[in-house]
Amino acid sequence: MGTPKRFFASDNYAGICPEAWAALQAANVDHAPAYGDDEYTARVADKLRELFETHCEVFFVFNGTAANSLALATLCQSYHSIICHELAHVETDECGAPEFFSHGTKVLTAPGANGKLDPAAIERLVRKRSDIHYPKPRAVSLTQATEVGTVYTVDEIRAIWARARSLGLRIHMDGARFANAVASLGVAPKEITWQAGVDVLCFGGTKNGLPVGEAVIFFDRELAAEFAYRCKQAGQLASKMRFIAAPWLGMLENHTWLRHAAHANAMAARMETALRELQVPILFPRQANAVFAEFSLPVQEGLRARGWRFYTFIGQGGCRLMCAWDTRPEDVDAFVTDVRELLKSC
Ligand SMILES: *Cc1c(COP(=O)(O)O)cnc(C)c1O
Repeated sequence: MGTPKRFFASDNYAGICPEAWAALQAANVDHAPAYGDDEYTARVADKLRELFETHCEVFFVFNGTAANSLALATLCQSYHSIICHELAHVETDECGAPEFFSHGTKVLTAPGANGKLDPAAIERLVRKRSDIHYPKPRAVSLTQATEVGTVYTVDEIRAIWARARSLGLRIHMDGARFANAVASLGVAPKEITWQAGVDVLCFGGTKNGLPVGEAVIFFDRELAAEFAYRCKQAGQLASKMRFIAAPWLGMLENHTWLRHAAHANAMAARMETALRELQVPILFPRQANAVFAEFSLPVQEGLRARGWRFYTFIGQGGCRLMCAWDTRPEDVDAFVTDVRELLKSC
């Protein structure tokens, strides 16, 4: 094998970024209190409060499914419902965990262009029924960046907030790719979270270069009151919590998290430009680190035969080409070269 190949299957195919790795190693000295009572966990929580410019409550769990499910369970009673886009990870990729951890809260889905919910679609689901037989809508879940690689603007989130507030709905944000959204929009994190009505954010780190672990950030601090119990009962309280928390220190210093996300976005932009030059149809506006491209089956097979990996089951068809913090320009170029050759021969 020559230089290692980087795939476009998912940003969680990528390894641990050097900054996170160094911070992890730096935490591996002496003994430290367990279950989150350590200085690393406290420091990361403080740094996140600085980043979001507010006094939020911060928790760490092992993965995004747990973060989303436990956060949503906090917002809802079992007879409530959660409104999300029909392509939302909480609906399609969490094996019913949001329903499971909330003891039956039903997920209601709405369609929407480019993977986004809009205020009218939310209101339709709420107004559809008002009787006792319908699970009472209680929360809206937004994915930022979305499952199809688009990004909600500040105004779009604020418009959803205005409608949600009038309908008595709380707002959860699935931020598995929150960093890519912030990098894409060029806004302060607070502008697309608590200043736009988000009650709880699941801030993903794994896809941006952490080994494991997501932060659950409550902007409405009252909601966080018994969240620690929820985490423990769900098997999400890490006894050596410092090793989930510490890598965040490397990520949060010197805007590393934003730099890695911006890089992934830039690599996706490079991919998009090159594929458009080859007349490959691009399915959604490319706003973050994913490109959804349409390749014929023979081209897809040819790419796979040449060792490339990518998903075709996410979103509404097409091949998802996901760039990561470590995607190199030459990886994109090598992929595009193979596409060009296959387009000629297929
Ligand atoms: C990856 C991802 C998650 C988290 O998935 P886990 O495998 O549970 O960590 C959540 N939401 C979205 C949109 C994702 O892409």
